[in-house]
Amino acid sequence: MTLVYHPRYHEHRQTIGHPESPERLDAIVARLKAEKLWKDVLTPEPVERGLLEKVHTPEYIDSVKDFGEGFMDPDTYVRPQTYEIALLAAGGTVLAAKTALEKGTPAFALVRPPGHHAGSYHGGGFCYFNNVAVAAEELRRKVDRVAIVDYDLHHGNGTHDIFYSRRDVLYISTHQSGIFPGTGYIDDLGNGKGEGYNICIPLPGGCGDTTFELFVNKILAPVLSSYKPDAILVSLGADAHYMDPLGGFALTSPGFISISDKLLALSRDLCGGGHRVHPGGRLQCQGPGRGRGRDGGLVRPKEGEIRVLPQRRRELRGETCHRRRGPGPEEVLARGMTICRWGTGEWSWGGGFDSRMSGMLDGCRKLSNEAIEIPFE
Ligand SMILES: [Zn+2]
Repeated sequence: MTLVYHPRYHEHRQTIGHPESPERLDAIVARLKAEKLWKDVLTPEPVERGLLEKVHTPEYIDSVKDFGEGFMDPDTYVRPQTYEIALLAAGGTVLAAKTALEKGTPAFALVRPPGHHAGSYHGGGFCYFNNVAVAAEELRRKVDRVAIVDYDLHHGNGTHDIFYSRRDVLYISTHQSGIFPGTGYIDDLGNGKGEGYNICIPLPGGCGDTTFELFVNKILAPVLSSYKPDAILVSLGADAHYMDPLGGFALTSPGFISISDKLLALSRDLCGGGHRVHPGGRLQCQGPGRGRGRDGGLVRPKEGEIRVLPQRRRELRGETCHRRRGPGPEEVLARGMTICRWGTGEWSWGGGFDSRMSGMLDGCRKLSNEAIEIPFE
């Protein structure tokens, strides 16, 4: 498998004690080297401005470039070098996607900073530019349909918003409900031409390998088989791992491997093997840098220290469509409400309770209600 990596990814630093740290990448690189998998490593260039502008507004790109130093949101710090490294992260994801498409084999982009919370006109949640969205735009120059699968702990609100009205890029996300960024409701189905091509599966805390196996077999595989993407991009956030302190999912390492295996099999069947993986979400390292509290605790902004960009202010006031309250998984179960259906070729929505989704949610309810025994590896 091709790896894409740049040494400058280590230069990117949030605040002291921040979980999105260079140690994440150190841990991954060290493990890949120890396993003798550190070969076929490509070094990317910064993403082209023209391609970046397919995803982000020129004003937002310039605002990151000229930001200087300070907080973009309580969790997202900008330094003078952030812009350049964020361009390299987007460039790395694009290079992985292009290589996978050309070779017909998987590629893994080991990039920092992450991207899936960055929308067209805002950053946030440790993200500046939406790496996976930029890679999808690059692939769309050559192919018709791209699927983005996001099984990070968090909802990729940026990716969701960017493709919400489009059907050429399907977005499907599992995420823990009720945590940051507070978006990704089960009835967020897409808009206009994109209706049916945005799928959000919010799950309660406690969900682990069995729930994800249900998700993969009963939702992801049928959806991808129906959509028939030419390429699959993955926002791989290892923060859904049971040892990660950010959330409440309980995926084990074998659970992650099983999802990857299934996605690889699907990509071989549907796209001729061109499966591209990148850690688009936030990956927590399990080395000495893990967790908050190191170096005396996480540095948070004081009042008035966050510079919020004008369009972002509108969104935070609830004036844009995606920041709203929809039903979470518990409410869906209680109401037995309609979620989604998909047939062969075309999408249809509404009317009746979908048995596959029902089975999935029953599974996660069962898991959430039971004590989960987590095997140590
Ligand atoms: Zn995450």
